[in-house]
Amino acid sequence: MASDTPDIRLTGLTKVYGDVVAVADIDLEVERGEFFTMLGPSGSGKTTTLRMIAGFEDPTSGSIELAGADVGRTPPYDRAVNTVFQDYALFPHMSVGENVAYGMRVARVGKRERARRRDEALKMVRLAEYGDRKPAELSGGQRQRVALARAIVNQPEVLLLDEPLGALDLKLREQMQVELKAIQRDVGITFVYVTHDQDEALTMSDRIAVFNQGRIEQVSTPVELYERPATAFVAGFVGVSNLLERDGRRFTIRPEKVRRLEPGAPPGDLLTESGTVSDIAYAGMVTRYRVELERGGHLQMVTQNVEGAPGDPESERGEEVLVGWRPEHAVAVSGKKLTEEESE
Ligand code: ADP
Ligand code: MG
Repeated sequence: MASDTPDIRLTGLTKVYGDVVAVADIDLEVERGEFFTMLGPSGSGKTTTLRMIAGFEDPTSGSIELAGADVGRTPPYDRAVNTVFQDYALFPHMSVGENVAYGMRVARVGKRERARRRDEALKMVRLAEYGDRKPAELSGGQRQRVALARAIVNQPEVLLLDEPLGALDLKLREQMQVELKAIQRDVGITFVYVTHDQDEALTMSDRIAVFNQGRIEQVSTPVELYERPATAFVAGFVGVSNLLERDGRRFTIRPEKVRRLEPGAPPGDLLTESGTVSDIAYAGMVTRYRVELERGGHLQMVTQNVEGAPGDPESERGEEVLVGWRPEHAVAVSGKKLTEEESE
């Protein structure tokens, strides 16, 4: 097989339930060994897409290729794909090691081989010392890693993960994001990761597809997605939207690219506008400002609290300010206008 064959290729993939179009004619290629993320709000079609790749759901139309072969007629258990769900579904009465080895026992893998692969998988997820424990004796993050080991042990080409960290609290989730990424790098398996959390997607992924109402709005690297959002929807969903319309063009500027200038200061190569501070929120590391612009619209601006906390934030409300940004940081976007709620 040529190495430039994508690991997963979706062509015109569509799924309709009654009068709901869950997935609408998507085309997508995932490369071998990639950490690929499907990002989008609830109901945008991520899980349905994942379930069709796994074979749990038949497409209404379109095709799915795995490693270059059409799997339209291949049942789930014959696809070189494994799925990790959010509710890890570990057997409570079995030890961690037994849980990991269970699938191999069912598949009648020999005892020696079973033990070897089990130990290797537990080592991969950094649970080598935990094989004899019961799931109840583990933390949430450790249980998630057991679920991961149980999938890795089958040596799939592709691992599908549907919001696997959704049940964990924020601190643990952030820690697991780093670990998951490291594990993926170690095992070299292609990961297709579903999340609605933009920070998670940006932190972990090689590439991200942004889903909206069953369609894909943009596929690109995290940097590209954040710095050059293609549509108003992407700009607003990945980060703060900061959408402005000027001279019939619509563009977006990230809050950290907007600076506050001294009134009357020479703008240099910055584009500037004047406005009024309407809201200030001190958030520890940063302070966020909302500025109502004279020419219409508003911008969020964020400043690092390098010198410590700002003075009394309340005193700045209503202050007239000059804000500026570099021309290249104003990114033209297409797509329908966001609703007031989406643009907050
Ligand atoms: P996501 O995972 O992005 O939250 P889903 O793929 O679960 O989105 O759902 C996409 C759309 O398809 C939603 O409108 C959902 O209600 C609908 N849907 C998903 N599964 C079914 C089903 N089995 N029957 C009917 N509608 C479904
Ligand atoms: Mg889902």
